[in-house]
Amino acid sequence: MHAEITQIVNETPSTQTFFFDLYLGHVPGQYVMVWIRGVDEIPMSLSYSNAITVQKVGDATAALFKLGKGDSFGIRGPFGNGFSLEGKSILLIAGGVGAAPLGSLAEKAKGNNIRVKTILGAKSAEELLFKKRFDNAGDLMIATEDGSLGYPGLATELVDELDLAKYDAIYSCGPEKMMFRVLNIAEGFDVLSRVQFSLQRYVKCGLGLCGMCCIDPSGLRVCRDGPVFRGDQLVGTEFGQYTRDASGKRVKL
Ligand SMILES: Cc1cc2nc3c(=O)[nH]c(=O)nc-3n(C[C@H](O)[C@H](O)[C@H](O)COP(=O)(O)OP(=O)(O)OC[C@H]3O[C@@H](n4cnc5c(N)ncnc54)[C@H](O)[C@@H]3O)c2cc1C
Repeated sequence: MHAEITQIVNETPSTQTFFFDLYLGHVPGQYVMVWIRGVDEIPMSLSYSNAITVQKVGDATAALFKLGKGDSFGIRGPFGNGFSLEGKSILLIAGGVGAAPLGSLAEKAKGNNIRVKTILGAKSAEELLFKKRFDNAGDLMIATEDGSLGYPGLATELVDELDLAKYDAIYSCGPEKMMFRVLNIAEGFDVLSRVQFSLQRYVKCGLGLCGMCCIDPSGLRVCRDGPVFRGDQLVGTEFGQYTRDASGKRVKL
């Protein structure tokens, strides 16, 4: 499909939201394959039904940042399973651009009268993504690594202070080291099956065909069986240990 950019919002110094002229009716956590013509096709979570929120990291994302209102990109999807919304009281743990798929989950939960608590972490206050969206959806706790707002330190240090058994479901997206720590904390509370993680792996086809994003040893495909997995599906896997680069070679985390 052809998506024309209708609005660009500067969210933080490193992230922008690109709204486009299609409503994809997504389940929060689902992603699209975005084709930046002449450069690459890359996976991006839907941060709204008609938007992606992008952090500039390399060639394709830099090319996206050069586009303006009225420009377009190709889009396929939505793909993947998305988060399954469960219970009456939930906890969201978001780190950096990992907040992208969780913003719309927070809003959906609030709309369903589910109590939402969010722990939002970033390197600095200005890099906190969707602070207002999470604040409007419920209770918000902030952690910044440089101490410029909220708790000075890592988001997972705030998770350490909570009783995870109190929440019907827990959702996490962010750097894999952060999510691995959440997995370990959840294991301590014996609530692994209640935690849903959104994983990032090298996704090329988005259709479950190429095998680039398979998780060892189960072979579950991030693009099609995920990107959301429960904690009990991830224990004893490559999660938190290694990922793979564009050629399929293992890269230690
Ligand atoms: C399901 C899913 C959802 C994502 N959602 C978001 C989002 O909402 N916002 C956001 O900013 N980023 C998101 N990403 C990450 C995003 O796809 C990469 O940042 C992007 O592909 C980088 O491309 P690049 O050419 O700019 O950088 P490159 O220089 O090519 O790569 C920089 C790094 O990005 C990763 N990367 C590159 N290509 C891919 C690829 N095809 N698949 C997965 N990772 C790749 C690799 O770790 C690589 O080392 C998501 C990734 C996945 C798998």
